Amino acid sequence: MTPPDKLNEPRPPRLALVDDALFDEHRARGYHPERPERLVAARRAVETCRARGIEFVRQGARDAESNEILRVHDEAYVELLERNNGLFAALDDDTYLTPRSVAAAYRAAGGSLALVDALLGPGEVNKGLALLRPPGHHARPDRGMGFCLLNNVALAARHARARGVERVAIVDWDVHHGNGTQEAFIDDPNVLFVSLHQYPFYPGTGRASEVGTGEGKGFTVNVPLSADASDITYHSAFEQVVLPVVARFEPQLILVSAGFDAHARDPLAGMTVSAAGFGWMARELSKLAEATAKGRMALFLEGGYDLEGLETSLEAAVSAMMGLESWDESTKQPLSSSHALEIAETRSILKSEWRL
Ligand SMILES: [Zn+2]
Repeated sequence: MTPPDKLNEPRPPRLALVDDALFDEHRARGYHPERPERLVAARRAVETCRARGIEFVRQGARDAESNEILRVHDEAYVELLERNNGLFAALDDDTYLTPRSVAAAYRAAGGSLALVDALLGPGEVNKGLALLRPPGHHARPDRGMGFCLLNNVALAARHARARGVERVAIVDWDVHHGNGTQEAFIDDPNVLFVSLHQYPFYPGTGRASEVGTGEGKGFTVNVPLSADASDITYHSAFEQVVLPVVARFEPQLILVSAGFDAHARDPLAGMTVSAAGFGWMARELSKLAEATAKGRMALFLEGGYDLEGLETSLEAAVSAMMGLESWDESTKQPLSSSHALEIAETRSILKSEWRL
């Protein structure tokens, strides 16, 4: 029983947290930007959030089962991973395997599924954070690439669908196009995929004209942006495209491919987003989650290769998702005319599908 004098006390904001020591064991032999130190930085952000009064409920990760992996990935690719389990290998020039990498990938995928279970379960937690390595959004159904082995967020979406969720929205604000996720849901009208990314850039896909195929036409939304996009660019893209589209889709669950490599400090990309900019995006999406998804929303770590940029951005995103942070007006700069044009072009492509 709650003592009567405690009844009116506001409860601290709580979210489920997936993290696992196995994720640190995926480490390249030489220097690689996708390194375990990224998780150390992410965990510092969690500690800062905790000190600010956010409560993290540890959600144990498990290993994904083969049948769950096969909801997104091909059998031949799963066999390839299993053949390389325990070995040093490479899927491409960027994507390394070490003896523990396949185990880490299965744990990261299973952790994503466990997080979905926590959000859909009878508990009181409707927000989540998955600190995953290896990341997932470039992993295609038939092949991992771009530092990614298994597509964690895609597997999470398929798991939610298998559990009866009709409409899942995936918003991918990683600076790279989430080509693997797009491919997994290209013809699926029940999973909305929205990506904002630097373009032209790795991996080369993500033009605004890529809108999905067959029944899935209109449910793939790409917002390609040229280099130097800042907070105001993302703000404008959100207000003109992302937020109205997601609102009209009325998702019952929002999953975010939360990469932080659009941060100004990131060494791999050319955007200039600040930590507050990530916070603003998280806050806007969490408002939509409240409106249509019973508040259900989770952040899945993707990229982000500057440790300070990753730490401060993740802290801002989690705080804002949990209702603690507000948009800092001082970070606004004027919207460049080229970015305004790119956003307008995307909007006009999606106009009829989404009444923009
Ligand atoms: Zn990225």
